[in-house]
Amino acid sequence: MKLVIVESPAKAKTIEKYLGEGFVVRASVGHVRDLPKSNKTAIDIKKGFVPNYEVVDKKKDVIAELKKLAKKADEVILASDPDREGEAIAWHVKEVLNLKNPKRIVFNEITKEAVQAALNNPRAIDEDLRQAQEARRVLDRLVGYDLSGLIWKKVRYGLSAGRVQSPALRILMEREREIRAFIPEKYWVITAHTESATHIPIELTCTEEPKTEKAADAIVSAAKKSDWKVASIKESGAKRTPKPPFTTSTMQQAASSRLGYAPSRTMGVAQKLYEAGLITYMRTDSTNLSQQALDQISKVVEAEYGKDHIELREYKTKSKSAQEAHEAIRPSSISKMAAGRNEEQKRLYSLIWARTVSSQMIDAEIARTKITAEVAHKDVPNFAVTGSRVIKEGWLRADISARGEDVELPKVTEGEVLNAKNIESLGKETQPLPRYTEARLIKELEKRGIGRPSTYAAIMRTLNDRGYVTKEGRTLIPTDTGDVVSSFLEEHFGNYISDTFTSNMEDELDDIASGKRKYLKTLKDFYTPFSKQVASKEDIPKLTNLGPVSKEFLCPECDSDMVFKLSKNGKFMSCAKFPDCQGARKDDGGIIEPPKEIGEKCPKCGEPGPRSKQDPGKLVMREGRFGMFISCDRYPKCKYIKQDNTLNSTGVTCTDCKDGEIIERHGRFGAFYSCSNYPECKLAIKAKPTGNLCPMCNKLMMEGTKTIPERCSVKTCPNHNPHKLEDK
Ligand SMILES: [Zn+2]
Ligand SMILES: [Zn+2]
Ligand SMILES: [Zn+2]
Ligand SMILES: [Zn+2]
Repeated sequence: MKLVIVESPAKAKTIEKYLGEGFVVRASVGHVRDLPKSNKTAIDIKKGFVPNYEVVDKKKDVIAELKKLAKKADEVILASDPDREGEAIAWHVKEVLNLKNPKRIVFNEITKEAVQAALNNPRAIDEDLRQAQEARRVLDRLVGYDLSGLIWKKVRYGLSAGRVQSPALRILMEREREIRAFIPEKYWVITAHTESATHIPIELTCTEEPKTEKAADAIVSAAKKSDWKVASIKESGAKRTPKPPFTTSTMQQAASSRLGYAPSRTMGVAQKLYEAGLITYMRTDSTNLSQQALDQISKVVEAEYGKDHIELREYKTKSKSAQEAHEAIRPSSISKMAAGRNEEQKRLYSLIWARTVSSQMIDAEIARTKITAEVAHKDVPNFAVTGSRVIKEGWLRADISARGEDVELPKVTEGEVLNAKNIESLGKETQPLPRYTEARLIKELEKRGIGRPSTYAAIMRTLNDRGYVTKEGRTLIPTDTGDVVSSFLEEHFGNYISDTFTSNMEDELDDIASGKRKYLKTLKDFYTPFSKQVASKEDIPKLTNLGPVSKEFLCPECDSDMVFKLSKNGKFMSCAKFPDCQGARKDDGGIIEPPKEIGEKCPKCGEPGPRSKQDPGKLVMREGRFGMFISCDRYPKCKYIKQDNTLNSTGVTCTDCKDGEIIERHGRFGAFYSCSNYPECKLAIKAKPTGNLCPMCNKLMMEGTKTIPERCSVKTCPNHNPHKLEDK
């Protein structure tokens, strides 16, 4: 018997179908070992940055089974994913199972042919690849641990920083400061509604945008009194070339703008397609297509659009890590035009298919027409309108949604008289550069060489989980906390969160992967100066306040001046005499009511005892996100929270912490349902859970309306609006 070990059960299932008798396929279910959680003994720096891995608790059963099977097996084959992470998983499995000479196989797509070919070409575990992964892991841990530790002491407890997360946050904050400093300028857009001699309406726009209303009015009134005619009609041709096949980042960008998927969702869906054998590996920065794929594409293009639509193109890959030069993300079988088990998989698959096929097709041709109108008045500039239409579709036939709308212009002739029916001016203001969306930030990170295909989605998630950004639609808005943390890091560790440093470090990791650099030297060269710099900041003063509040707001308790401070929920105003005075206001000046004592002792720490001799706890009423609740006044030292027994449990288990029960609560906006483990667990939904789980995202289903009896409680899940799902 031959034992094949992969990382995921879904992948195991697909491979099992291809391998006949004599093979047993099992999943390690991700990593079997990891660094211990937030503990500096995780890495032995003196011994040469040796990580002390621990077996992951939850994996003990999996490992026991794998061990048993490995003993019986004639051969153990490690078939985890074809990148550094996969190499590391294979290596950990080898170490934990004590395998002598396991075979390592890699394939870029889970098809019968690819798996067979890989089985015929086994190799040993690639030490360089796995060391590159280890170096990243150790670096990230050291930086995260040291920087976070310092921020806890100097800014606020519980904040975090990271080697790649912090440069990403800095990029967001730099844009935010530009937006704050932006001074808008007024300008006026003048539009003329005219008619041709044959009464066909034509809307034209003034080619100049005056900066004052007076100038705009002058143009409007002069234009109204004057004669109009068509001065010129210019036709020009343009070509639109197709885009290269998808890499991880371009797929994330396109899925965001076309399908509205967040990057982590895109990666989750892509992984399912990959594990089902439908697409190639989804973590790649290569735009390459294999010869076999190109042959398939040619056949499909010929059959679907005609032989004259084929144009095989080579796209340059920017990646320097040639060793891992996978293919671009493409369908495993190009002839399969639709695939996927549910709507979200089908939509992403179609996007990948369209991008892959169109990348090897001829250009589209566009005709542009510009009509310029002349007004017989020396003070009135020309007016113009531009139209465009696709005259030859080319690759757009395979990627229909990239086509865009044609803007058709009416037929007029040069010199034709126009009749100006109405002319109006509209005041506008110049806009600052927009904030980043997740997709645009990923594009920016890639451009600056920060992060890699395996990390983009994780960076986005971290920024969000840490409370450094909030999302409004797809736009990322840095929070006060994000602002404070970034400013602190830029001031004290600007050299370590710069673009150049971060991208050089990525290059060094790539060099480890290709065997051109050594693990130890890389870590040492980085950590020796870094740890010195961290130590040198030990004595900087604690960031106790974020600057004075304007005199407009005084302390509501004692009329003293106030200062801005940072709480868990962002900026607020605090009395400058704190802790002697507890007066506080919200960021907008609204008074924050101090917690009210309810005249009960804290059952946990209220009795004078060894732990709380000086400071016995009293219960106070506080206002939380979900209404009032009662807790100890010594929070955060004492975490006691009074559970309200009158609340009704629904008997449904929480899907977030998998421990609490969902209970009915009443807040400012009426009844809602949240986890009994609040505030540790923050799950809360708007309607009563039905006890079912969403078939699309596995989260709680809740009661809907008359027409929708049941819907997913997750707003971003398509099943939140089941009536809008196309039933196919
Ligand atoms: Zn005060
Ligand atoms: Zn207490
Ligand atoms: Zn919970
Ligand atoms: Zn759902």
